[in-house]
Amino acid sequence: MGFDEFESIGSVGDIFNRQGIRLLPAKPKRKNIKNLSKYILWEKEVWKKNRKRCSNCGSKENLTIHHKKPVSEIISENKKVHINDISQLWDVENGVILCEACHKKIH
Ligand SMILES: [Zn+2]
Ligand SMILES: [Zn+2]
Repeated sequence: MGFDEFESIGSVGDIFNRQGIRLLPAKPKRKNIKNLSKYILWEKEVWKKNRKRCSNCGSKENLTIHHKKPVSEIISENKKVHINDISQLWDVENGVILCEACHKKIH
């Protein structure tokens, strides 16, 4: 896999394989960036950092990961950058654990 295979990253709904290669044409919208092994590792780090509780209220119920800066925004600012090299995307500081109630409040 080389950089040349990436003309642009596309949107968050695009389909990537586990090597980060965008699959065209994008068929079902089920596999996307969130299925990349690198993303799954990132999520694990965010969970660890936040000690598996809502960083706002401390709840341990209905937890979800929130991106401080949305993935779509990061990707659209880095269209020509290989997905593995978008440092902001893989920055653990960009992720925060929130419970469903707190998450709803900020969206
Ligand atoms: Zn909360
Ligand atoms: Zn969110």
